[in-house]
Amino acid sequence: MTTWKIAVLPGDGIGQEVTAEAVRVLKTVGKGAGQGFEFEQALVGGAAIDATGAPLAPGALDLCRGSHAILFGAVGGPRWDAVPHETRPERGLLALRKELDLYANLRPAKCFPMLVDASPLKRSVVEGTDLMVIRELTGGLYFGEPRGVERFADGGARAINTMAYTSREIERIARMGFEVARKRTKRLTSVDKVNVLVVSQLWREVVTQVARDYPDVALDHLLVDNCAMALIQRPTQFDTIVTENTFGDILSDEAAILAGSMGMLPSASLGGSVGLYEPVHGTAPDIAGRGIANPIAAILSAAMLLRYSLSLGPDADRVEAAVLRVLEGGARTADIAPAGGRTVGTREMGDLIVRELERQY
Ligand code: NAD
Repeated sequence: MTTWKIAVLPGDGIGQEVTAEAVRVLKTVGKGAGQGFEFEQALVGGAAIDATGAPLAPGALDLCRGSHAILFGAVGGPRWDAVPHETRPERGLLALRKELDLYANLRPAKCFPMLVDASPLKRSVVEGTDLMVIRELTGGLYFGEPRGVERFADGGARAINTMAYTSREIERIARMGFEVARKRTKRLTSVDKVNVLVVSQLWREVVTQVARDYPDVALDHLLVDNCAMALIQRPTQFDTIVTENTFGDILSDEAAILAGSMGMLPSASLGGSVGLYEPVHGTAPDIAGRGIANPIAAILSAAMLLRYSLSLGPDADRVEAAVLRVLEGGARTADIAPAGGRTVGTREMGDLIVRELERQY
Protein backbone atom coordinates (compact mmCIF):
# COMPACT_ATOMS: atom_id res chain seq x y z
CA MET A 1 0.00 0.00 0.00
CA THR A 2 1.32 3.47 -0.90
CA THR A 3 1.50 5.91 1.98
CA TRP A 4 1.03 9.49 0.86
CA LYS A 5 2.64 12.16 3.01
CA ILE A 6 0.51 15.28 3.15
CA ALA A 7 1.80 18.50 4.73
CA VAL A 8 -1.14 20.33 6.32
CA LEU A 9 -0.79 24.11 6.78
CA PRO A 10 -4.17 25.41 7.99
CA GLY A 11 -2.97 28.97 8.70
CA ASP A 12 -5.40 31.42 10.31
CA GLY A 13 -9.10 32.18 10.75
CA ILE A 14 -11.44 29.93 8.78
CA GLY A 15 -8.35 28.34 7.18
CA GLN A 16 -8.19 26.18 10.30
CA GLU A 17 -11.88 25.32 10.21
CA VAL A 18 -12.17 24.34 6.54
CA THR A 19 -8.82 22.50 6.32
CA ALA A 20 -9.96 20.14 9.10
CA GLU A 21 -12.91 19.08 6.90
CA ALA A 22 -10.65 18.56 3.85
CA VAL A 23 -8.41 16.30 5.96
CA ARG A 24 -11.45 14.25 7.04
CA VAL A 25 -12.39 13.84 3.38
CA LEU A 26 -8.89 12.61 2.48
CA LYS A 27 -9.01 10.14 5.41
CA THR A 28 -12.31 8.84 4.04
CA VAL A 29 -10.70 8.40 0.59
CA GLY A 30 -7.86 6.55 2.33
CA LYS A 31 -10.26 4.06 3.90
CA GLY A 32 -12.39 3.68 0.78
CA ALA A 33 -9.58 3.35 -1.75
CA GLY A 34 -7.10 1.46 0.44
CA GLN A 35 -4.59 4.32 0.28
CA GLY A 36 -2.45 5.29 3.26
CA PHE A 37 -2.34 8.95 4.23
CA GLU A 38 0.06 10.46 6.74
CA PHE A 39 -0.73 14.03 7.77
CA GLU A 40 1.77 16.36 9.40
CA GLN A 41 0.89 19.92 10.41
CA ALA A 42 3.02 23.07 10.33
CA LEU A 43 2.35 26.69 11.26
CA VAL A 44 2.07 29.39 8.62
CA GLY A 45 0.81 32.98 8.53
CA GLY A 46 -0.26 34.80 11.69
CA ALA A 47 -0.23 31.57 13.70
CA ALA A 48 3.46 31.13 12.80
CA ILE A 49 4.25 34.79 13.58
CA ASP A 50 2.69 34.45 17.05
CA ALA A 51 4.55 31.21 17.82
CA THR A 52 7.90 31.76 16.11
CA GLY A 53 8.14 35.40 14.98
CA ALA A 54 8.31 34.40 11.29
CA PRO A 55 5.40 33.89 8.82
CA LEU A 56 6.64 30.38 7.97
CA ALA A 57 7.60 28.27 11.00
CA PRO A 58 11.12 26.78 11.00
CA GLY A 59 10.94 23.31 9.47
CA ALA A 60 7.73 24.03 7.53
CA LEU A 61 9.53 24.36 4.20
CA ASP A 62 11.42 21.09 4.72
CA LEU A 63 8.19 19.36 5.71
CA CYS A 64 6.59 20.59 2.46
CA ARG A 65 9.61 19.53 0.37
CA GLY A 66 9.49 16.04 1.88
CA SER A 67 5.74 15.57 1.27
CA HIS A 68 3.77 14.35 -1.75
CA ALA A 69 1.46 17.37 -1.56
CA ILE A 70 0.52 20.36 0.59
CA LEU A 71 -2.95 21.14 1.87
CA PHE A 72 -3.09 24.84 2.69
CA GLY A 73 -5.82 26.88 4.42
CA ALA A 74 -5.51 30.68 4.37
CA VAL A 75 -3.37 33.28 6.12
CA GLY A 76 -3.77 36.77 7.53
CA GLY A 77 -6.21 38.88 9.49
CA PRO A 78 -6.54 42.28 11.16
CA ARG A 79 -4.42 41.14 14.13
CA TRP A 80 -1.32 41.11 11.93
CA ASP A 81 -2.09 44.15 9.74
CA ALA A 82 0.47 46.30 11.57
CA VAL A 83 3.29 43.76 11.14
CA PRO A 84 6.18 45.06 8.92
CA HIS A 85 5.76 44.28 5.20
CA GLU A 86 8.53 41.67 4.95
CA THR A 87 7.15 39.58 7.83
CA ARG A 88 3.44 39.84 7.05
CA PRO A 89 1.42 36.57 7.13
CA GLU A 90 1.12 36.34 3.31
CA ARG A 91 4.93 36.36 3.06
CA GLY A 92 4.74 32.75 4.31
CA LEU A 93 2.65 31.75 1.30
CA LEU A 94 4.71 33.81 -1.16
CA ALA A 95 7.90 32.19 0.19
CA LEU A 96 6.42 28.71 -0.30
CA ARG A 97 5.41 29.53 -3.88
CA LYS A 98 8.88 30.85 -4.68
CA GLU A 99 10.90 28.17 -2.86
CA LEU A 100 8.85 25.30 -4.31
CA ASP A 101 8.78 26.90 -7.78
CA LEU A 102 4.99 26.81 -7.88
CA TYR A 103 4.71 28.86 -11.05
CA ALA A 104 1.25 27.80 -12.19
CA ASN A 105 -1.96 28.53 -10.30
CA LEU A 106 -4.98 26.60 -11.57
CA ARG A 107 -8.33 28.04 -10.57
CA PRO A 108 -11.44 26.33 -11.89
CA ALA A 109 -14.64 28.41 -11.81
CA LYS A 110 -17.69 26.30 -12.29
CA CYS A 111 -21.28 27.33 -11.81
CA PHE A 112 -23.03 24.40 -10.13
CA PRO A 113 -26.53 24.06 -11.63
CA MET A 114 -28.28 24.18 -8.25
CA LEU A 115 -26.39 27.34 -7.24
CA VAL A 116 -27.12 29.42 -10.34
CA ASP A 117 -29.22 31.78 -8.26
CA ALA A 118 -26.41 32.31 -5.71
CA SER A 119 -24.51 34.31 -8.37
CA PRO A 120 -25.33 38.00 -8.62
CA LEU A 121 -25.31 37.60 -12.42
CA LYS A 122 -28.36 36.57 -14.45
CA ARG A 123 -29.12 32.86 -14.85
CA SER A 124 -28.94 33.25 -18.66
CA VAL A 125 -25.34 34.53 -18.31
CA VAL A 126 -23.82 32.13 -15.76
CA GLU A 127 -25.65 28.88 -16.50
CA GLY A 128 -23.23 26.33 -17.97
CA THR A 129 -20.06 28.22 -16.94
CA ASP A 130 -17.16 25.81 -16.51
CA LEU A 131 -13.79 27.41 -17.01
CA MET A 132 -10.23 27.23 -15.73
CA VAL A 133 -7.98 30.25 -15.17
CA ILE A 134 -4.26 29.45 -15.19
CA ARG A 135 -2.30 32.26 -13.60
CA GLU A 136 1.49 32.58 -13.74
CA LEU A 137 2.47 32.82 -10.10
CA THR A 138 6.17 33.50 -9.62
CA GLY A 139 7.01 36.24 -12.12
CA GLY A 140 5.76 39.62 -13.30
CA LEU A 141 5.01 42.66 -11.15
CA TYR A 142 4.82 40.81 -7.84
CA PHE A 143 8.46 39.70 -7.96
CA GLY A 144 10.18 41.93 -10.57
CA GLU A 145 13.21 44.02 -9.64
CA PRO A 146 13.83 46.87 -9.11
CA ARG A 147 11.09 47.52 -6.61
CA GLY A 148 10.83 50.01 -3.79
CA VAL A 149 9.96 53.54 -2.75
CA GLU A 150 12.27 56.53 -3.08
CA ARG A 151 11.52 59.38 -0.63
CA PHE A 152 12.49 62.87 -1.71
CA ALA A 153 13.67 65.77 0.45
CA ASP A 154 10.67 67.87 -0.68
CA GLY A 155 8.30 65.32 0.91
CA GLY A 156 7.38 63.69 -2.42
CA ALA A 157 8.09 60.07 -3.30
CA ARG A 158 8.35 57.68 -6.23
CA ALA A 159 7.42 53.97 -6.04
CA ILE A 160 8.52 51.28 -8.51
CA ASN A 161 7.44 47.75 -9.33
CA THR A 162 8.76 45.99 -12.39
CA MET A 163 6.87 43.74 -14.75
CA ALA A 164 9.42 41.36 -16.26
CA TYR A 165 9.18 37.92 -17.86
CA THR A 166 11.77 35.71 -19.54
CA SER A 167 10.86 33.60 -22.56
CA ARG A 168 11.52 30.50 -20.43
CA GLU A 169 8.98 31.62 -17.80
CA ILE A 170 6.39 32.29 -20.49
CA GLU A 171 7.05 29.02 -22.29
CA ARG A 172 6.54 26.80 -19.23
CA ILE A 173 3.25 28.45 -18.22
CA ALA A 174 2.07 28.32 -21.85
CA ARG A 175 2.84 24.59 -21.95
CA MET A 176 0.88 24.12 -18.73
CA GLY A 177 -2.02 25.99 -20.39
CA PHE A 178 -1.98 23.78 -23.46
CA GLU A 179 -1.67 20.57 -21.40
CA VAL A 180 -4.63 21.52 -19.21
CA ALA A 181 -6.73 22.66 -22.21
CA ARG A 182 -5.95 19.36 -23.93
CA LYS A 183 -7.60 17.48 -21.03
CA ARG A 184 -10.65 19.78 -21.16
CA THR A 185 -12.35 20.96 -24.36
CA LYS A 186 -9.13 21.84 -26.22
CA ARG A 187 -9.70 25.60 -26.29
CA LEU A 188 -7.09 27.96 -24.85
CA THR A 189 -7.35 31.74 -24.52
CA SER A 190 -4.10 33.60 -23.83
CA VAL A 191 -4.69 36.98 -22.17
CA ASP A 192 -2.27 39.91 -22.49
CA LYS A 193 -2.04 43.66 -23.08
CA VAL A 194 -0.09 43.52 -26.32
CA ASN A 195 -1.21 46.96 -27.49
CA VAL A 196 0.63 48.66 -24.58
CA LEU A 197 3.18 46.39 -22.89
CA VAL A 198 6.40 45.05 -24.41
CA VAL A 199 6.22 42.21 -21.89
CA SER A 200 2.94 41.22 -23.57
CA GLN A 201 4.59 41.31 -27.00
CA LEU A 202 7.08 38.67 -25.87
CA TRP A 203 4.27 36.79 -24.11
CA ARG A 204 2.21 36.57 -27.32
CA GLU A 205 5.25 35.65 -29.43
CA VAL A 206 6.22 32.75 -27.13
CA VAL A 207 2.66 31.45 -26.64
CA THR A 208 2.20 31.43 -30.44
CA GLN A 209 5.46 29.47 -30.85
CA VAL A 210 4.46 26.89 -28.21
CA ALA A 211 1.08 26.46 -29.97
CA ARG A 212 2.89 24.72 -32.85
CA ASP A 213 3.43 21.73 -30.50
CA TYR A 214 -0.30 21.55 -29.75
CA PRO A 215 -2.09 21.53 -33.13
CA ASP A 216 -5.12 19.84 -31.51
CA VAL A 217 -5.74 22.83 -29.18
CA ALA A 218 -7.47 25.93 -30.60
CA LEU A 219 -5.63 29.06 -29.37
CA ASP A 220 -6.94 32.59 -29.34
CA HIS A 221 -5.51 35.81 -27.86
CA LEU A 222 -7.51 38.39 -25.94
CA LEU A 223 -6.62 41.76 -24.41
CA VAL A 224 -7.04 41.78 -20.64
CA ASP A 225 -9.57 44.64 -20.59
CA ASN A 226 -11.68 42.83 -23.17
CA CYS A 227 -11.40 39.59 -21.22
CA ALA A 228 -12.59 41.32 -18.02
CA MET A 229 -15.78 42.34 -19.84
CA ALA A 230 -16.30 39.04 -21.65
CA LEU A 231 -16.00 37.07 -18.41
CA ILE A 232 -19.18 38.59 -17.02
CA GLN A 233 -20.94 39.07 -20.36
CA ARG A 234 -20.48 35.62 -21.89
CA PRO A 235 -18.46 33.37 -19.54
CA THR A 236 -19.54 30.21 -21.36
CA GLN A 237 -17.36 31.21 -24.34
CA PHE A 238 -14.27 30.33 -22.28
CA ASP A 239 -12.70 27.00 -21.46
CA THR A 240 -9.05 27.45 -20.39
CA ILE A 241 -7.49 30.89 -19.87
CA VAL A 242 -3.73 31.40 -19.41
CA THR A 243 -2.29 34.70 -18.28
CA GLU A 244 0.47 36.47 -16.33
CA ASN A 245 0.51 37.04 -12.58
CA THR A 246 -1.30 40.37 -12.03
CA PHE A 247 -3.91 39.88 -14.78
CA GLY A 248 -4.54 36.36 -13.47
CA ASP A 249 -4.98 37.56 -9.90
CA ILE A 250 -7.71 39.97 -10.94
CA LEU A 251 -9.43 37.83 -13.59
CA SER A 252 -9.59 34.74 -11.38
CA ASP A 253 -11.27 36.72 -8.58
CA GLU A 254 -13.71 38.12 -11.12
CA ALA A 255 -14.41 34.57 -12.31
CA ALA A 256 -15.14 33.68 -8.67
CA ILE A 257 -18.39 35.66 -8.92
CA LEU A 258 -19.56 33.18 -11.54
CA ALA A 259 -19.48 30.35 -9.02
CA GLY A 260 -21.69 32.18 -6.54
CA SER A 261 -19.38 32.24 -3.52
CA MET A 262 -15.69 32.31 -2.67
CA GLY A 263 -16.52 29.35 -0.46
CA MET A 264 -16.95 27.12 -3.54
CA LEU A 265 -13.63 27.77 -5.29
CA PRO A 266 -10.61 25.48 -5.03
CA SER A 267 -7.14 26.00 -6.48
CA ALA A 268 -3.92 24.16 -7.21
CA SER A 269 -0.43 25.63 -7.45
CA LEU A 270 1.86 23.46 -9.52
CA GLY A 271 5.28 23.52 -11.13
CA GLY A 272 8.00 22.10 -8.89
CA SER A 273 8.12 18.65 -7.38
CA VAL A 274 5.31 19.19 -4.84
CA GLY A 275 1.92 20.81 -5.46
CA LEU A 276 0.05 23.13 -3.06
CA TYR A 277 -3.74 23.05 -2.82
CA GLU A 278 -5.82 25.76 -1.19
CA PRO A 279 -9.23 27.37 -1.29
CA VAL A 280 -9.21 30.68 -3.17
CA HIS A 281 -10.75 32.53 -0.24
CA GLY A 282 -8.96 34.19 2.66
CA THR A 283 -9.33 33.83 6.42
CA ALA A 284 -12.76 35.56 6.54
CA PRO A 285 -12.25 37.37 9.89
CA ASP A 286 -15.93 38.40 9.81
CA ILE A 287 -17.09 34.80 10.32
CA ALA A 288 -13.98 33.07 11.73
CA GLY A 289 -14.51 31.00 14.88
CA ARG A 290 -18.27 30.67 14.39
CA GLY A 291 -18.27 27.31 12.61
CA ILE A 292 -20.27 28.62 9.66
CA ALA A 293 -17.63 28.80 6.90
CA ASN A 294 -18.27 26.81 3.75
CA PRO A 295 -15.71 23.96 3.64
CA ILE A 296 -16.46 23.03 -0.02
CA ALA A 297 -13.61 25.10 -1.55
CA ALA A 298 -11.14 23.33 0.76
CA ILE A 299 -12.71 19.92 0.04
CA LEU A 300 -12.60 20.52 -3.73
CA SER A 301 -8.95 21.57 -3.30
CA ALA A 302 -8.35 18.16 -1.72
CA ALA A 303 -9.97 16.61 -4.82
CA MET A 304 -7.51 18.56 -7.01
CA LEU A 305 -4.69 17.25 -4.78
CA LEU A 306 -5.82 13.68 -5.44
CA ARG A 307 -6.01 14.32 -9.20
CA TYR A 308 -2.88 16.38 -9.86
CA SER A 309 -0.34 15.25 -7.22
CA LEU A 310 -1.35 11.66 -6.49
CA SER A 311 -2.83 10.72 -9.90
CA LEU A 312 -5.92 9.37 -8.13
CA GLY A 313 -8.35 10.78 -10.69
CA PRO A 314 -11.23 8.34 -9.97
CA ASP A 315 -11.05 9.20 -6.24
CA ALA A 316 -11.05 12.92 -7.08
CA ASP A 317 -14.17 12.26 -9.19
CA ARG A 318 -15.80 10.56 -6.17
CA VAL A 319 -15.12 13.55 -3.91
CA GLU A 320 -16.56 15.93 -6.51
CA ALA A 321 -19.58 13.67 -7.01
CA ALA A 322 -20.16 13.56 -3.23
CA VAL A 323 -20.13 17.39 -3.07
CA LEU A 324 -22.59 17.56 -5.97
CA ARG A 325 -24.93 15.01 -4.36
CA VAL A 326 -24.94 16.85 -1.04
CA LEU A 327 -25.76 20.14 -2.80
CA GLU A 328 -28.46 18.37 -4.83
CA GLY A 329 -29.85 17.15 -1.50
CA GLY A 330 -30.36 20.80 -0.54
CA ALA A 331 -27.70 21.33 2.15
CA ARG A 332 -26.38 24.90 2.14
CA THR A 333 -23.90 26.84 4.24
CA ALA A 334 -24.91 30.46 4.88
CA ASP A 335 -22.87 31.89 1.97
CA ILE A 336 -24.79 29.88 -0.65
CA ALA A 337 -28.22 29.68 0.99
CA PRO A 338 -31.18 31.66 -0.32
CA ALA A 339 -32.28 34.45 2.02
CA GLY A 340 -34.10 32.96 5.00
CA GLY A 341 -33.28 29.36 3.93
CA ARG A 342 -32.10 26.67 6.38
CA THR A 343 -28.33 26.49 6.70
CA VAL A 344 -25.77 23.99 7.94
CA GLY A 345 -22.42 24.77 9.59
CA THR A 346 -18.88 23.84 8.55
CA ARG A 347 -18.80 20.58 10.47
CA GLU A 348 -22.26 19.46 9.38
CA MET A 349 -21.45 20.13 5.71
CA GLY A 350 -18.25 18.11 6.22
CA ASP A 351 -20.25 15.27 7.84
CA LEU A 352 -22.72 15.15 4.94
CA ILE A 353 -19.94 15.05 2.33
CA VAL A 354 -17.98 12.38 4.24
CA ARG A 355 -21.12 10.22 4.55
CA GLU A 356 -21.92 10.61 0.84
CA LEU A 357 -18.30 9.82 -0.05
CA GLU A 358 -18.42 6.60 1.99
CA ARG A 359 -21.40 5.58 -0.16
CA GLN A 360 -19.33 6.18 -3.32
CA TYR A 361 -16.94 3.31 -2.42
P1 NAD B 1 -11.94 36.59 2.35
O1 NAD B 1 -11.91 35.65 1.21
O2 NAD B 1 -11.35 36.12 3.62
O3 NAD B 1 -13.46 37.02 2.64
C1 NAD B 1 -14.26 37.73 1.69
C2 NAD B 1 -15.76 37.51 2.02
O4 NAD B 1 -16.13 36.19 1.64
C3 NAD B 1 -16.06 37.62 3.51
O5 NAD B 1 -17.33 38.22 3.69
C4 NAD B 1 -16.09 36.19 3.98
O6 NAD B 1 -16.94 35.96 5.09
C5 NAD B 1 -16.60 35.44 2.74
N1 NAD B 1 -16.04 34.09 2.66
C6 NAD B 1 -14.79 33.76 2.26
N2 NAD B 1 -14.62 32.44 2.34
C7 NAD B 1 -15.78 31.92 2.79
C8 NAD B 1 -16.22 30.60 3.09
N3 NAD B 1 -15.42 29.53 2.94
N4 NAD B 1 -17.47 30.42 3.55
C9 NAD B 1 -18.29 31.48 3.71
N5 NAD B 1 -17.95 32.75 3.43
C10 NAD B 1 -16.69 32.97 2.98
O7 NAD B 1 -11.22 37.93 1.88
P2 NAD B 1 -10.83 39.25 2.70
O8 NAD B 1 -11.93 39.56 3.68
O9 NAD B 1 -10.47 40.24 1.69
O10 NAD B 1 -9.51 38.88 3.49
C11 NAD B 1 -9.48 38.48 4.86
C12 NAD B 1 -8.06 38.10 5.23
O11 NAD B 1 -7.66 36.97 4.46
C13 NAD B 1 -7.03 39.20 4.93
O12 NAD B 1 -6.09 39.22 5.97
C14 NAD B 1 -6.40 38.77 3.62
O13 NAD B 1 -5.10 39.24 3.49
C15 NAD B 1 -6.43 37.26 3.77
N6 NAD B 1 -6.41 36.51 2.50
C16 NAD B 1 -5.62 35.41 2.46
C17 NAD B 1 -5.59 34.63 1.32
C18 NAD B 1 -4.72 33.40 1.31
O14 NAD B 1 -4.25 32.99 2.34
N7 NAD B 1 -4.50 32.77 0.17
C19 NAD B 1 -6.39 34.96 0.21
C20 NAD B 1 -7.21 36.09 0.30
C21 NAD B 1 -7.21 36.86 1.46
